[in-house]
Amino acid sequence: MSVVFIGMGSNLGERFSILQQAVALISELPTTDMLAASSVYESPPIDNSEQNHFLNAVCKITTELPPKALLDALKAIERSLGRPERYARWSPRCIDLDILFYDDQVIMQDGLTIPHSEIQHRKFVLLPMLELDDVFHPILKKPLSTLLAETSDDSVIDKRELPLLYNKKT
Ligand code: AMP
Repeated sequence: MSVVFIGMGSNLGERFSILQQAVALISELPTTDMLAASSVYESPPIDNSEQNHFLNAVCKITTELPPKALLDALKAIERSLGRPERYARWSPRCIDLDILFYDDQVIMQDGLTIPHSEIQHRKFVLLPMLELDDVFHPILKKPLSTLLAETSDDSVIDKRELPLLYNKKT
């Protein structure tokens, strides 16, 4: 059984409801249990200030799905929540699901990089994830709290009073 952190973001449509549905669908994946969900944070879009702000959160699961199978399952959830299969890189998205950490594994395959390559550059990932665990980054060799202290991301991230609900299977 592996411990995995998943980053979630939405800046299109009913953003909170979509995040809530993503949490429910992730917890229903086979062999998967939802351990925790962070607070929801509002953050400005990275590259296109014309877009809506994002709502972001991080969840922590246990799963027996291997990394590639989990990625495929997350892509299927993205599509079931209305995200098209193909999209422009920085376009608005109703849901984005990223595998941030998968145990302390380092994976660099075609189409899958773990830990996610942008963690240290994104306060909207570091802040919610730190609520759940001060994970040690296996490549940068630093805990998340240090990555947050050192990040060059100076965007303003607002914690929102929108608790994500989840059911534990066990
Ligand atoms: P995005 O536009 O952020 O949703 O990027 C999606 C693509 O990034 C997917 O098609 C994945 O193949 C690739 N990718 C690489 N590493 C990861 C990861 N750790 N989690 C999610 N997607 C990843």
